[in-house]
Amino acid sequence: MFKLQDDRGGTQLSYEILSLSFTRTVPALKIKGMANLPTTSKWVRTDLLHPTFKARLHAFLNEDSRISGRVSIVSGVRSYADQKRLYDGWVARKPGFNLAANPDRKFAPGWQGSYHMQQSDGYGHAVDLRIVGRGLTTGDVARIAKDYGIKQTVLNPFEWWHFQWRNSSGIFPAPAMEGKPTETKTAVKKKVDMKGVGAAIAQLGEAVRRQPLRRGSKNTAVKVLQQGLANKGFNPGYPDGIFGRKTSLAVRNFQRASGLVVDSIVGPATWKALFG
Ligand SMILES: [Zn+2]
Repeated sequence: MFKLQDDRGGTQLSYEILSLSFTRTVPALKIKGMANLPTTSKWVRTDLLHPTFKARLHAFLNEDSRISGRVSIVSGVRSYADQKRLYDGWVARKPGFNLAANPDRKFAPGWQGSYHMQQSDGYGHAVDLRIVGRGLTTGDVARIAKDYGIKQTVLNPFEWWHFQWRNSSGIFPAPAMEGKPTETKTAVKKKVDMKGVGAAIAQLGEAVRRQPLRRGSKNTAVKVLQQGLANKGFNPGYPDGIFGRKTSLAVRNFQRASGLVVDSIVGPATWKALFG
């Protein structure tokens, strides 16, 4: 087994088991508020589905009460090798192999192989669905999916299970997605300008020297004080910039622990002990 870092920060694990090789990508991060998409096996790859498609699938498969728990993804994004294996199996008429597109065919400018394959934008745009619960017909699934802009696109021969959110000419309309996110954004950690933070703390320290913080103080310096206390493990309550009872107690405890005068008043000595 070897590990590769994929371009989206996930870890791609490749296995060789009894001459069968599998590749799966372990997602790097879960999108907040978005549960994993239901799949019929852990080998089904949904991590590289286009983010907008994922958001639609989430609303459809996880959130729609008529569908939730009853429909799963049986095939998601396929690597070139996966697609080739399916294609070769179909060409050889092996049992269990459905029609699969030739991974090398170019069917529209910039589009190749199958919508299941990663396209030039790096994403896959098709899933195959399976009904896993009671009370739904394939017609029900298709009708409800359409509201989410997820449509059957393989009509001849008809593969009821194959769904896409777009084709090479454009994106399907999704009336049920009104007001829902169409694009999921990867959380990007804000870069903190440490120099700027240091300068701001020094400036506040100067203000504290002129006017120490005490019970009843209400300003930005108190907010920074509260964050400083919390960082050192002294709980001042929610950092709201108001020097109240909890903050007062946290200051006392911090002063005691630091060998300072215990008076609950934050002057230069306490400030310096907190922020250096
Ligand atoms: Zn398909």
